[in-house]
Amino acid sequence: MYYEPADADLPSENVWSTDKYLNHVPQLFETLREKFGEDIRLLHDVHHRLTPIEAGRLGKSLEPYKLFWMEDPTPAENQEAFRLIRQHTTTPIAVGEIFNSIFDCHTLIQEQLIDFIRTTVVHAGGITQLRRIADLAALYQIRTGCHGATDLSPVCLGTALHFDTWVPNFGVQEYMRHTEETDAVFPHAYSFKDGYLYAGETPGHGVDIDEELAAKYPYQRAYLPVNRLEDGTMWNW
Ligand SMILES: [Mg+2]
Repeated sequence: MYYEPADADLPSENVWSTDKYLNHVPQLFETLREKFGEDIRLLHDVHHRLTPIEAGRLGKSLEPYKLFWMEDPTPAENQEAFRLIRQHTTTPIAVGEIFNSIFDCHTLIQEQLIDFIRTTVVHAGGITQLRRIADLAALYQIRTGCHGATDLSPVCLGTALHFDTWVPNFGVQEYMRHTEETDAVFPHAYSFKDGYLYAGETPGHGVDIDEELAAKYPYQRAYLPVNRLEDGTMWNW
């Protein structure tokens, strides 16, 4: 029941080269546009791996392929970095999956440095706080795009869907399918069909927990991979 990129027991090692990445990604999106045409929405997650000027260069090189968003181009703690990125590219920017409060993103929102705010119910202070972030974002035509990786439980997804159903400046909801085992431990009212998520009709967030079944899955350690540069230096994954 691991979050997909995680490895059972000890982490695997990946090799990272920013130069190769910056050359490869535009070629990737050129190929995708050739193969799938203009009508499909394409998104890319940079995983906080670039400097601001590298992110500006990547965004600029991806402009011909009209991404729906470029996610987490630089370490998200530095809101001021996005001023530099914004000066160099019109590729839409999405940030916020690691934010814990409105104070992590108020500069990004008020200076219109991003296009999508990706804060989640569980990380950013619950529904009330998320509503405040979304309302501030709405003043600047910034839309929501709640993080929805499988390390967030079905409770978070069920709650996010109710938030999404309300929020006037809804953009998109990230959805990674949980495993069958996780879905069984968390009986839920929401469903997914043909690219759309439905919150269901159960009162509240519509997600329960089967504690007896959960007890059959004791904790097993797992780690996200680690990155090394080509010279062996440890690098941010
Ligand atoms: Mg991400």
